[in-house]
Amino acid sequence: MAPQPASALADGFGRRITYLRLSVTDRCDLRCRYCMSETMRFLPRADLLSVEEMALISERLIARGVRRIRLTGGEPLTRRGLPDLAHRLGYLLATSPLEEVTLTTNGTRLAQHAALLADVGVRRINVSLDTRDAALFRHITRTGDLGHVLDGIEAARTNGIRIKINMVALAGLNDQEFGTMLRWCGDEGHDLTLIETMPLGVVEEDRTDRYLSLETVRADLEGSFALRPSTHRTGGPARYFELAGTSTRLGLITPMSGNFCEGCNRIRLTADGQLTMCLGHEDYVDLKTAYRDGGMAGLDAGLDEALRAKPPRHLFEIGRGIAPSTARHMSATGG
Ligand code: SAM
Ligand code: SF4
Repeated sequence: MAPQPASALADGFGRRITYLRLSVTDRCDLRCRYCMSETMRFLPRADLLSVEEMALISERLIARGVRRIRLTGGEPLTRRGLPDLAHRLGYLLATSPLEEVTLTTNGTRLAQHAALLADVGVRRINVSLDTRDAALFRHITRTGDLGHVLDGIEAARTNGIRIKINMVALAGLNDQEFGTMLRWCGDEGHDLTLIETMPLGVVEEDRTDRYLSLETVRADLEGSFALRPSTHRTGGPARYFELAGTSTRLGLITPMSGNFCEGCNRIRLTADGQLTMCLGHEDYVDLKTAYRDGGMAGLDAGLDEALRAKPPRHLFEIGRGIAPSTARHMSATGG
């Protein structure tokens, strides 16, 4: 049966949904200490959406108003079908109202994939890099080789892809490096976004020990850098500052110290087809079953159910002894 005409996605609070974060796998080749435990268990591969299903769901979401898609995970570049998915989304970029396909990656395999990403129309990506000190990088990621990430960043740049570095602020780990990272980004022409650590899923550490308010970090940086507030927006939750004399923007994502939920425009699809309406809530709609059992009508019904359930805001709390706000890790929901 042909799909019904599509109504735009809007939730019960009048927020229009225009942005999809698509987690293509929950697996990862690193084990960042704040993100997952060393012995993280991953979804059985048989439970995952196929690449074809991911593209089909994306297409329906575009028909209902989504204009930006960010591939994430887990580490998206570890999914074997990633090149196929990139081509399918590149086709949608060229032939549908979709305006942007981006990616958040740890960069370890970026050198191999940068040319393909550029070819299908990816113009900017986020690379997560919490330190440029090789030993500390290995410590934070437990397994990572900084050289591979730097090679990946260079390959992306060579292919004309603009880079934003994502750096999670971690007390006692990388808190002496914000200035050197910002200076490096200024020299290299990258943007930098700092992120407050969020209580998602159990890890070995108590994140309370690592939490840093970015208001404090920004005040410190202003002692050494000329930062001008900017009106720039990318469709995400960051607030931006311009670094004088450079093309670099500093973004701050402050889920803990400064709530930004009232402007939320996003939904997240996990690799096994759960549509989550908020990073900070457990609820989800099983879109995979809705689609496999009910086709396009089932998919639309699942989307409508999810929109009705989108909560007004997250309920993150961080503090000694407070359990994580969700059992689900960021790597499963799609960061
Ligand atoms: N593996 C890719 C990467 O690291 O860029 C994509 C997925 S990762 C879950 C997406 C982003 O979430 C990364 O920038 C990572 O640093 C961040 N992240 C993971 N766990 C987090 C947490 N508990 N709090 C804040 N940010 C987190
Ligand atoms: Fe992997 Fe990204 Fe999580 Fe690090 S932050 S463990 S790279 S998913």
